[in-house]
Amino acid sequence: MTPNSDTPGTCTPEPLRDYRLRKLLVRRQALADAAVEHLCHDLPGADVLWQSLHRVEERLRQEYPAVWAQSNAGWVAADAARLHPAGRPASKSCRLCRQWHVSDVEVRPAS
Ligand SMILES: [Zn+2]
Repeated sequence: MTPNSDTPGTCTPEPLRDYRLRKLLVRRQALADAAVEHLCHDLPGADVLWQSLHRVEERLRQEYPAVWAQSNAGWVAADAARLHPAGRPASKSCRLCRQWHVSDVEVRPAS
């Protein structure tokens, strides 16, 4: 516990806080990627990934409300934009589609 570490009103950068924010954002992105892909391909564990994603977003909302407010709508839109039916591959945005597409191609000689 460091009661004096938080000094409201000062605009000095807080490297540790920035670092934590960056880590949370990276984690959020990784979880969102995986959650969207799992959901689209009906893979087990999708619900666990969404729960983890929501937990990370909730932490961002509590600890970095300004960042959350600025980013939340964009996250929702970006995640929704990448949803696709398993039968309609989205190899640009989905790693699973890309993987399966690549292995399809590899069956045939490249040139
Ligand atoms: Zn896909």
